[in-house]
This record gives sequence, structure tokens and C-alpha cells, in this order.
Amino acid sequence: MSLLITGGTGYIGSHTVVELLKQNQSVIIVDNLVNSSIKVLDRIQTITGKTVTFIKADICDAKAMDAIFNEHKISAVVHFAGLKAVGESNEIPLTYYHNNVSGTITLLQIMAKHHVKSLVFSSSATVYGEDNQSPLDESMPTSATNPYGMTKLMIENILFDLAKSDPQWSIVCLRYFNPIGAHESGLIGENPHGIPNNLLPYVAQVAIGRLEQLQVFGDDYDTHDGTGVRDYIHVVDLALGHVQALAKLPQLTGCHAINLGTGNGTSVLEIVEKFEEISGKHIAYTIVSRRAGDLASVYAKADLAKSLLNWQAQRDLHTMIADTWRWQSQNPKGY
Ligand code: NAD
Ligand code: UDP
Repeated sequence: MSLLITGGTGYIGSHTVVELLKQNQSVIIVDNLVNSSIKVLDRIQTITGKTVTFIKADICDAKAMDAIFNEHKISAVVHFAGLKAVGESNEIPLTYYHNNVSGTITLLQIMAKHHVKSLVFSSSATVYGEDNQSPLDESMPTSATNPYGMTKLMIENILFDLAKSDPQWSIVCLRYFNPIGAHESGLIGENPHGIPNNLLPYVAQVAIGRLEQLQVFGDDYDTHDGTGVRDYIHVVDLALGHVQALAKLPQLTGCHAINLGTGNGTSVLEIVEKFEEISGKHIAYTIVSRRAGDLASVYAKADLAKSLLNWQAQRDLHTMIADTWRWQSQNPKGY
């Protein structure tokens, strides 16, 4: 039996595949490479000494997905595939709803047809919307402020309804906080196309000299230094959260939303300071106005992952930034 990993050549997917291969799981990746490089496969092999089956296909393509389930015995699916840029989702919402929501429905229909009813889904802390106070816990009301967030919320709701309709489904929606870092080998990491939207890849590219200076979006928030606070989590810890979720799925019937975060908040200026200390590089920055839609402080209550999945983040901020820097300096232009 194999695990099907949609979006497995992407940032979080590739790190999860490495951890699954380390546990001798048989893994099949399906990815259309819209936001990832085929070179990831060689890197995964170098890290693990194992090969992984790769199928280039789109999750929206029902025929291709059906063929995969016909050809391989699949026990469970980890579903990373999706488009994830908030700004872009405002510009091309239909593309986002089609790719993320319709693509997931297609995947679920094919899974049901083949009686594969175990799923781990990549959700996001964005489903907590704007109205909740951190620490965010899973019982809080959900909402969305942009099409990307809405796709995550719609998919979660679809999964809750599906599990209600058929008790054979076991589903975990993992609500990620802010994944950063890279594999300790420096061989795989986050590889954004164009100018990064997220803080860490931006800072890393300033450190390497690809970008001139960071724009800090606001220093007048109600936080200890006025800059935005987030719950950064090492991508390998996140990957291990998926390994644990898969291990626990057989005991978890129904659909469960679970935070994957550390429970700690770090400000933009603390990230800049730590990055300078670890890289030895100066990070030039300028304070600009707030970014539309940003919240002051977002961090997790991380207790449910501990009690339900027996999982807890292990890697500290130093490791997260040291691993980001290793990846960036060994791969200045990405893959
Ligand atoms: P990523 O873009 O690196 O990985 C997603 C992968 O999915 C890519 O390899 C892409 O080529 C593939 N893909 C997209 N649409 C596809 C389709 N229709 N068919 C087949 N493959 C497709 O992103 P990531 O950071 O690894 O994120 C993985 C998942 O986690 C996404 O669903 C994302 O929304 C979610 N998530 C990410 C973050 C984050 O900050 N990185 C936070 C919360 C949630
Ligand atoms: N941020 C910033 N400059 C950037 C990118 C991000 O000041 O170029 C800030 C942003 O306002 C937020 C934090 O860094 O407070 C994390 O932003 P990111 O986009 O990485 O994550 P998200 O806001 O989606 O949680």
C-alpha cells in the first residue's frame, strides 16, 4: 500500500515526503509542477537514498486521477496541492476556486470511488479570519477575508460535511501557522517564484543580495515592538505533524481541525535581528505602512495537536533561521 501525496514536490510536501520515506513508507507524488521544480525529486533521493514514484498530473483531471488509483494501491492521501498566494487570489479568484475547491472535490470523488477514505488536508490559520484573539484555538469561529482563505474554509466545510455523511471517512485538517526553515541538508527548501510575499524568503533574499531592502509593514501595531507577530514553525516539525496525523488516522473517525503551530509569537524585527546574528549579514530595512488585511498578532493554541496527535513542535527559532539561511546560501537562485 502507498500514500498518495498531492503537491508533493512543493515546499511543505517535499519535506513531508522525506520524513515519510525515512519511516519506510511507500510514497507516490502527484503534482502538476505549477509551483515546484522536478529537481526536488533528485534532492529527495539524495537525502533519503530512496526513490519516490512521481506522476505529473493535475488534481482537477478526473481521468488522470482515476488512472492513478487504478494503477496503485493507495491507503491514504495527504493533500497539499493548491495555489497559495493571497494577493494573486484577489486578482484571479476563479482560478483559485477552480484549482483548490473543484480540484479537491474531484480528488474526493475519485477517492470515494476507490474506497480510499483517509485524508490529511493542508488547511491554514487564515481560516480564523480577523475577529478572533490569539492564542487561536480550534473551537473559535472561522471566516475568510480573501479568496485564498475562502478556498481553505470551503474545503474544510466540505470535509466536515463529507465525514458527517459517511462514517468511513477519517479526515484531519491541519491548520498551519507560519512554516519557515528548510531541511537541515540545505538541499530542499522554499523556492518562491518572483519577489517573495512572505517575510522569511524576503529577508533571506536581502541577506544574499538579491533584494535591496526589506519593507517592514507597520511598526504601530499593538505588539511589544510595534511590528507584526506570527507563530513561525519549522517546516520539518510541520512535516512530522503529518506523519503523526497519518499514524493516528485509523483511530480518528470523522473530521478534525487541528492547529500546527508552536504557540509562540515572534515579531518582524525579532526575525530581522536573529537573521542578522545567524547569517552575519546586514538586513537593510525600512518601515512602511501596514499591509492591507494584516493582523497585529497571530499565534496558536497548540494543545489539541499534543493530545490528539501526540505531536509538538521541537525546533526553535534559531534552528528555523539557521536552516533557512543554509538553504538560501547553498541555493542562491533556488533549484
Ligand atoms: P507549494 O506551492 O510549494 O506546494 C503546492 C504544490 O501543489 C506545488 O508543488 C504545486 O505545483 C502543486 N499544485 C498546485 N495546484 C495543483 C494541481 N491542480 N494539481 C497538482 N498539483 C498542484 O506550497 P506549500 O507552501 O508547500 O503549501 C502546501 C499546502 O499548504 C497548500 O495547500 C497551501 O495552501 C497550504 N498552506 C501553506 C502555507 C505556507 O505558508 N506555505 C500556510 C498554510 C497552508
Ligand atoms: N512582513 C513584512 N514585510 C514583508 C513580508 C511580511 O513586514 O515583506 C510582515 C507581515 O506584515 C507579517 C509578518 O511579516 O506581520 C509575516 O508575514 P507573512 O506574509 O510571511 O505571513 P502572514 O502575514 O501570511 O502570516
